[in-house]
This record gives sequence, C-alpha cells and structure tokens, in this order.
Amino acid sequence: MAQMRAKDQRRFLFDLYSKNLMFHSDSVGNQFICPICGPVTGRIFGPDAIIGPALTVDLAHIYPDSCGGRAATLTCKKCNNRIGGKFDEQLERERKVHDAFNPSKRAHIKARLKLATGDVGIHLSNNNNVFEMRIIKEHTNPASLKAFEEAAKNSAIDFQTIGINLVMAWFNEKRASVSLWHSAFLMMFREFGYEFAFSDLAEQMRRPLLAEEPPTEPFFQAFSIPTAAFENQSMYRIGIVTSPEEYRCFCAVLPTPDRNSGGRCVLIPGLGEKGDTAYKRIMKNKTNKCRLGTRFFAANPADRLQYRAFRQFMDCGWNNVPHEMMFIFEALMLIWQMSGDSTVVPITVANFSMHYGLPAEVNQGILNDLLHRDWISGNISVEGVVRLTDKGKAKASEIAELPNILRLCRST
Ligand SMILES: [Zn+2]
Repeated sequence: MAQMRAKDQRRFLFDLYSKNLMFHSDSVGNQFICPICGPVTGRIFGPDAIIGPALTVDLAHIYPDSCGGRAATLTCKKCNNRIGGKFDEQLERERKVHDAFNPSKRAHIKARLKLATGDVGIHLSNNNNVFEMRIIKEHTNPASLKAFEEAAKNSAIDFQTIGINLVMAWFNEKRASVSLWHSAFLMMFREFGYEFAFSDLAEQMRRPLLAEEPPTEPFFQAFSIPTAAFENQSMYRIGIVTSPEEYRCFCAVLPTPDRNSGGRCVLIPGLGEKGDTAYKRIMKNKTNKCRLGTRFFAANPADRLQYRAFRQFMDCGWNNVPHEMMFIFEALMLIWQMSGDSTVVPITVANFSMHYGLPAEVNQGILNDLLHRDWISGNISVEGVVRLTDKGKAKASEIAELPNILRLCRST
C-alpha cells in the first residue's frame, strides 16, 4: 500500500515537473532534470526513470524522513543517496541528541564514561529532568566493569566531586547545516520549480550541496521560532522577509528537534544585487534576536507550477509585481512564441487558453487587456482567432531581452 502511494506520488510529481520544465527550457515534455545536479551535468531523465526496480529519479524528502519529514519533491537518486549519507545522517544525530535531553521522549544516547578504573559504556537520558546514566554491560570491557563495581561498592568513587569525562556521539554541526540547506533548496524547488532551479540563486545555493566537504565557515543564517510565535500552518512554507526592509530575503520554515521552539527558519538570499546585499548584511548580524516580518506564499505550489501563466512567479513575488501584470506579460510572450515570431500566424483562443492554463473568464480578461494595449488584434471570444500586432511583436522581443520582471514592468 505504502509502495503504491510512493509510486503514485512519483508519477504525479514527474508529470508536474515535466510540464513546468517546458516553460523554462526547450524540453518537449515527459522529461525531468534533477534540480540539484541537472543544470551542472545536463542529464535529462525520461519517464522510465521513476519506474522500478532500477529507479534513477525518486522522491526526496524535504526534511529527512528519519527526522519526521513529511513533504517530498523529486531529485535524481544519486543526489538523494549522496546527500542522505553524507549530510542528512548528521541531522538525524542532532535529533537523537535533542531527544535524549527531552524527558517526554524517553530516548537515550550512547556515551562512554571515562574513569580512573577504565571505560564504561552507558546510555544517557533525561528522566524527569534528572540525568540518568545506565551502564550497558555489553558495551563495557568486563575487567573495567568489575573494577567500577568494586570501586562503587567501596564508595571509592565520590560521585559528588568526581570529574566525569563523558564521550558521546555528538553530531557534526557543519554537516548537519548542509542537510538543513538541502532542505531549504528542495523547498525552493517545490515552491518555484525550474524558475528557481535555473536561476542564479539556485546556482549559488547548490555549491555546498555538490561539494564533498561542508564549507568551513557558516554560509547561511537560521534561527529558532519561539513556540509562542509559531503558527503551525507556516511549517514547510516559503516566505519573503519583508521587514526590516534591509534584511529582505526568502525564508523556509522547517521542523526542529528542539522542544523549546516551534520550528526553525532558514534564511535564503533574495534575487539580484539587492538580494545579495541584504544577505551580506544578514550574515554580518551576529545577534540572534531580531524581529522579522514575513509574508508567506499561498500553499500548494502544484496549482501554479503546471500553468504557463505563473512562469515568472518567483521573480514577480520577489519584486512585488502584481499578478495581473505577470499574467499579461506571460500571455503576450506565449502568443509571440506560438506565432513563431510572426504577426501573420493566427492563434485560436482555445489553443491559447489550453497552453496558458487559467480559467476561461480570466483568460478572456487578459486577452481583452492585450487587445486594448494594441498588442494583439482579432476576435477574443472562445471560438475566436487572434494575431500579434507589430506593436505586440516589438513589445515581446523587447521583453525577451530583459533579465528580470522588474525592468519589464518599468518598460510599460
Ligand atoms: Zn541529481
């Protein structure tokens, strides 16, 4: 049953991303590119990739499933395995350490107690806020165990004053941080699809994910969200930090093993020069107390990713471009593309609507706007046919040259 569900989920995501890929590349459909390694290797996967037993593209948990992660997206199996083994494992250890110190979890971590009488293997746990060390015979050399027991019996160990040298399986914070960054990367991909995966931002974010070793210096900021301030519906959401304005960046809300917080917020650089500058400022801020205002994107990105109308959603969101403007530009670009750079080829309104993807009445409104701007001519009724005007064609080629949507809006 569970296997069936995973298979269906893979199929659903493959179809969704292959549609989305067509808006951002010259893909003809039914293709998938891994958002992590794809833009570097250029490898393209066909629909067979998600069919067993030799899966090459698989579900990627946004937050490791070993840490209770739920939401998933797709990546190639190679990236999934590599990052899982190298980095995610450390996030799992982080959780174990937290659980051992949490009395409600009844969990423990393995540790070694270093004493003058020898090493003793123990399980360390928090029992009603009292630290408990339980000796594990199987993890202790019999001679050391005997010496320890003798000493304890003769009260030769003064537990009040003894200096205990404890060695335990802590987690590698640098590796765990790459795992958290990986989660943030996957969340951005789930939210914005290939608009994100092919962006400069993704190129910057994937560097530590493709590297063999974690960066030596901290490369991003994350902070705990106090339980009181946490709204459960913001879990697994992407937002934009809107205040203070000089810290404007993207953010991703992820689970945390810390029982004293509701979640953790990973800050992600914004777009363009303004985004870079703000993030440099954020990295310089060493105080971890800062009140941030955040605006979250509406849930369920799958509703957007399959429609051409939302092709520049990330860019528009970052630059505060109203949706109506985004829709109008995208409609013009689609008609331009369908006309093959000509003003003679007629486009049926039905065909336009099918590719564009919004409900009929919205499509109608957008075409009406294009008509009024004199970018198209013709009959915009559902059975109608439209053509690009010279003015529309000039506008479209102008837009195609622009690097981002903000300049595009200024040009109207
Ligand atoms: Zn990959």
